[in-house]
Amino acid sequence: MKSAVFYGKHELRVEEHEMPKVGPKDVLIRVKACGICGTDVHIYEGDKGAAEVNPPTILGHEFSGVVAEVGEEVTAYKAGDRVCIDPNCYCGACEPCRNGVAHYCEHMIGYGTTVNGGFAEYCAVNERQVYRLGENTSFEQGAMTEPVACCLHGMDLCNIHPGHQVVVIGGGMIGLLMLQLSKLAGAAKVALLEPVENKREVGKQLGADVCIDPIHEDVKARLAEAGITWVNTVIECVGRPSTIEQAIEIAGNKAVVMMFGLTKPDETISVKPFQIFQKELELKASYINPYTQKRALDLIDSGRLDVSSMVYEVCGLDKLAEILGSPKLRANGKYIISPEK
Ligand SMILES: [Zn+2]
Ligand SMILES: [Zn+2]
Repeated sequence: MKSAVFYGKHELRVEEHEMPKVGPKDVLIRVKACGICGTDVHIYEGDKGAAEVNPPTILGHEFSGVVAEVGEEVTAYKAGDRVCIDPNCYCGACEPCRNGVAHYCEHMIGYGTTVNGGFAEYCAVNERQVYRLGENTSFEQGAMTEPVACCLHGMDLCNIHPGHQVVVIGGGMIGLLMLQLSKLAGAAKVALLEPVENKREVGKQLGADVCIDPIHEDVKARLAEAGITWVNTVIECVGRPSTIEQAIEIAGNKAVVMMFGLTKPDETISVKPFQIFQKELELKASYINPYTQKRALDLIDSGRLDVSSMVYEVCGLDKLAEILGSPKLRANGKYIISPEK
């Protein structure tokens, strides 16, 4: 089968790979769409701490496709089913797993990180990780289930109540999802801070009450103009020290500051503890997607969450290395790989 194999930093080869072995509990998926994620970029760049990868490995953890074959013990799925996967497989037996925090599993298997994933024509996945797509959901939308599930976990930690005021920093795919999820959670007003004009445009279309250019505009003045005078939640979706500091600055009294954007492992920020004390801020972060995959699927299938406007292009495996290596291309929006292209 055709696949994109990661051999180490900046080394990705599209080549013939043997077909995955289908174990008794495995479902063999013919991949139709596989999203390129920030984690893939970190791995490609050789960043430590991004994920445990032992090359050679086929990356790609955000994918959907059609069941091609099932192992002899699989009963829930059959050939032809349209599915997506939760890439993070928990053991169920270690201490975190037995205490309701399985995303800290000591024996976690990650499809597309620790084992082969979806940047290939086929991937074999344990049936426990397989989810059926709703009938309104396309394969591209299905590939967005995992990032949406990650956002939902973050949203759950934000404690947004109906009528709240929310500021989202960063209008990339995650920021645009968070913006919509804030609305769905009942926020009365949502502001988007984003320097790129066409992303602010998409933000507007997706329901932002105000979209602000944080480089050329006075953020506090623009927020006040829009009636946003007590920010209850700031969701930082960039992962830079300066934008995290800005999130703390903008947050109102008793606010939650959600640090959703991933910084490099050794990055530090400069914070005035007095500011946190004075406003009784809660600084939070969100790690992967525990128990939110089904909700993400249902939400996408309901049509109430737009997961298509932020997709820039669907392309073939041959373009993967170029996209992983180019921040300029990735600034256009979300890329999805279709191995059949
Ligand atoms: Zn991802
Ligand atoms: Zn475990």
